[in-house]
Amino acid sequence: MRAGESAVTSEAEGLHCPHCGGGLSPHDRWRLACPADHRWYAVVGVSAGKGTPEHGGDQVSDPGRVADIERLVASPGVRDTLPPQVMLLLLGMLDREREGRSVPPRPEETRCPRCGEGLTGFESGDSWAAGLRCPADHEIWCRGGHVWWGRGAARVEIADEYADEQLSRTVRAWLESKMLRRQLPAPVLEVFTWWHDRSG
Ligand SMILES: [Zn+2]
Ligand SMILES: [Zn+2]
Repeated sequence: MRAGESAVTSEAEGLHCPHCGGGLSPHDRWRLACPADHRWYAVVGVSAGKGTPEHGGDQVSDPGRVADIERLVASPGVRDTLPPQVMLLLLGMLDREREGRSVPPRPEETRCPRCGEGLTGFESGDSWAAGLRCPADHEIWCRGGHVWWGRGAARVEIADEYADEQLSRTVRAWLESKMLRRQLPAPVLEVFTWWHDRSG
């Protein structure tokens, strides 16, 4: 265990879901979830749980392929080499295969991840990300389902899971763009192609 890891974990325990304000706790080794089962990928500065959740095999259409995805996301160092978006897509595929999970489009983030209170926008002068503040003056930034705060070593970032339609659309975008496609290691490209072909 690296120095400071336990401190990061205890911070994770105090975090709140940006959708509903519910307390976040480790869901699996990559993600945090609230009691309403909104799942957030721990991108930077926060560690999730250990191990993988129990899962039934009922939904799995291609056990070999699903095992491939499990191995991919669990391989050491993968978090540092794959873009967060690719990790989110792979985890989204796992959820759907293993649990038949369906995710409707989610509204904007309205709750402070640091205290659970309501967020209101402020004029940040930043056209790239939305700046939000809670009554305790926590400053939060949001863009495209990613939510972050703090700077440098203190930066924390979590990312929302993809809605069903968004997942298919984003996988397609990675496959259709030469520039994006080049960034995909061969096993990931294989999985993306499999997913795209079978979901039409
Ligand atoms: Zn929630
Ligand atoms: Zn707050």
